[in-house]
Amino acid sequence: DPQMSTTYRLGVLEGDGIGPEIVPSSIEVATAAAQAAGASIDWVALPLGASAITTHGAPVPDETKRALETLDGWVLGPHDSVSYPEPHKSALNPSGTLRKHFQLFANIRPAKSFPGAEAVCDSADLVIVRENTEGFYADRNTHAGTGEFMPTPDTAISMGIVTRHATERVARVAFDLARSRRKKLTIVHKANVLKLTTGLFRTVCQEVAQDYPDVAVDDFHIDAMTVHLVRRAQDFDVIVTENMFGDILSDLAGEISGSLGTAPSINSSADTAMAQASHGSAPDIAGHNTANPVAMILSTAMLFEWLAARHDDPALATTAKIMEKGVADTIATGTSTRDLGGSASTTEFTAAVTKAITSGI
Ligand code: ATP
Ligand code: MG
Repeated sequence: DPQMSTTYRLGVLEGDGIGPEIVPSSIEVATAAAQAAGASIDWVALPLGASAITTHGAPVPDETKRALETLDGWVLGPHDSVSYPEPHKSALNPSGTLRKHFQLFANIRPAKSFPGAEAVCDSADLVIVRENTEGFYADRNTHAGTGEFMPTPDTAISMGIVTRHATERVARVAFDLARSRRKKLTIVHKANVLKLTTGLFRTVCQEVAQDYPDVAVDDFHIDAMTVHLVRRAQDFDVIVTENMFGDILSDLAGEISGSLGTAPSINSSADTAMAQASHGSAPDIAGHNTANPVAMILSTAMLFEWLAARHDDPALATTAKIMEKGVADTIATGTSTRDLGGSASTTEFTAAVTKAITSGI
């Protein structure tokens, strides 16, 4: 099989705070899983974050961007951009810079309960597909005239933008995903108040639905959706929504199904993808070896799933499945970090997952 010999080159950007703890953890687990699955990965370490300001003069050095352009995808640790010195502190943050540079228009955030972990809903298995380039967090630079401004010192104005093009491309990602899962898709909007913007979002999603007659579609206003999620998260499969609604809803969904420390995500274009945990850099626990690496590990697994689909390579899909099973089995058998009610350190948890994988599950 010629595919078995393909070597994928993936970037490793540790970032700030707990990044240097959870990123190496996810690479250790991924390396064990890839070996078990017969997938070949080259990891390419690249500078990013506060340390890159010191060494390269910028949180996202040009050298990093140029290298990423040649890679198949990358794993991004969290960043603590509020702690950067000016002008970096006021500039677009590192993940925003990378999303923009690589046009990573789809932010895919699953929320899945783990057997053995405490959660509001212990049977959620849903994915939020968030439009990543416009809506009410419009890209201030590419849509001139949108974004925030202050006509007087006492008045601040913010605008949103929804386009058919951006809505259609993210809707197709969501419908394709629904087709590979339980074939249910929920459109979230606020078309009774934000009639033109989120109304267009709903209309375009419903038009795309015509191409997916096998996927059942419903839609809710964002406020009603929060109620449905808390009451019956297990009923939802894929949820597609605009940027700000997706940001808020995915934190809610992540927390209902587990903890911030377990919520993974990827950001993708048609050509590349970036694994990124949903949580931040957690400076309050950085350096203590207590951070939960699960969100970072599962984000890395999602990157393998994405690569598997793009390159039609079953060894990568197997790598992702082995990582997910290693994490789930480790938690189910009673090993977890503090945020999940356990007592394992980051390195102890990582070693347990790696052992579960290498001992042949
Ligand atoms: P950001 O704006 O960067 O997203 P934030 O204000 O949302 O930051 P986080 O860094 O996500 O904050 O942290 C929120 C809380 O969750 C903190 O108390 C932090 O310690 C905790 N936390 C975040 N990630 C993890 C993790 N992987 N393991 C354990 N605790 C975490
Ligand atoms: Mg946050």
